[in-house]
Amino acid sequence: MTVTIKAKALEAFVADIFASAGCSKEEGTRIGRYLVSANLSGHDSHGVVRVPRYATNKKNGIVLPDVTVDVVIDTPVIAVVDGKHGFGQTVTPQAVRIGIDKCKVNGLSAVTLRNAGHIGRVGDWAEMAAAAGLVSIHFVNASGSVLVAPHGGVQRRFSTAPYCIGVPRPGQDPLVLDFATSIVAEGKVLVASQGGKKLPDGALIGPDGKPSSDPHTLYGDYVPAGPRDYSKGTGAIRAFGEHKGSGLAFMCELLGGSLSGNGATDPKRGRFANGMLSFYVDPKVIDPAGFFPVDVAKYVDFVKSSAHAAAGGEVLVPGEPEVRMRAERLANGVPLPDDTWAAIVETARSVGLDERRIQQATL
Ligand code: NAD
Repeated sequence: MTVTIKAKALEAFVADIFASAGCSKEEGTRIGRYLVSANLSGHDSHGVVRVPRYATNKKNGIVLPDVTVDVVIDTPVIAVVDGKHGFGQTVTPQAVRIGIDKCKVNGLSAVTLRNAGHIGRVGDWAEMAAAAGLVSIHFVNASGSVLVAPHGGVQRRFSTAPYCIGVPRPGQDPLVLDFATSIVAEGKVLVASQGGKKLPDGALIGPDGKPSSDPHTLYGDYVPAGPRDYSKGTGAIRAFGEHKGSGLAFMCELLGGSLSGNGATDPKRGRFANGMLSFYVDPKVIDPAGFFPVDVAKYVDFVKSSAHAAAGGEVLVPGEPEVRMRAERLANGVPLPDDTWAAIVETARSVGLDERRIQQATL
């Protein structure tokens, strides 16, 4: 069973929960906007399902409210940014803004971000750069979150280490390739464990090397509305794409983790932190003649014109499913499994949100 809530109402409810939890109103609003943006783009794994975990992390001091980042190294084209364990929805846009501003001056920039709270859907940051007309590439790791078995192994060695590329298109939605280097993001296991979309066959692997799609492989035992703790399970998520995806995950760990100073994923590091290396490129500097947008448009048409593998199928380009889902959910609301909604309402109560406000959200 699901409940369906209009995006604006959901954003406002999440904002009020985090304002009640001790964040500023502005930060609560940002958290609401970015979490709901993930739901709108169809990535429920990085949407409001995260509210209980974010609130617990705030309560336990794992993530800190209203942080202004430190710029540790600052050259005309490079910034090394420390997020100081602030909410990802607060410190990441600051780091991305630095990258955009440097790129606008120099045509190119590289920015690392370390010690960021969960930065959510990485595509949001590529979209922020694309809105400024920039191409961007992002290598991300999630130190403290060892979840993924490397190709050929069964033990957890990588985080779900996402990789993302954004390409702006004048007057159109950007092309955004944005995925975890695991077969599924951990949040998708979380969603499946709460009665949402089931996992693909073999997304997980047991300690005996047997493929699995049962969330218990990752979380061990749990009760429906209770927390999911991936330290309780004995299995792992599998890296996607055999040796190639596993190799990309490895490089995300080295670039998003080691090079940023976040540290490659380490089971001994208890505190969760995302690290990210981002490159920004201004196509207007590389290509003043304007060949790029014309050729991108031509190539998108060429790719999409391929004959379909299956009757009734179609060829989509990166970012297209998210754009479609956003239009659909903005019109019709965001569907949430009952368990997810119950856990959010429970979180609202636990942070002391006014009961009338909670009732208003549940109408
Ligand atoms: P996914 O498997 O759904 O893949 C999404 C990507 O594939 C998008 O670029 C989408 O446009 C493209 N795509 C999907 N279907 C397509 C089709 N039929 N044709 C062409 N392109 C298609 O994504 P995922 O691996 O489940 O990741 C989900 C989200 O989780 C991402 O936004 C990622 O940034 C986020 N994530 C974040 C963290 C973190 O630590 N912050 C960790 C892991 C993942």
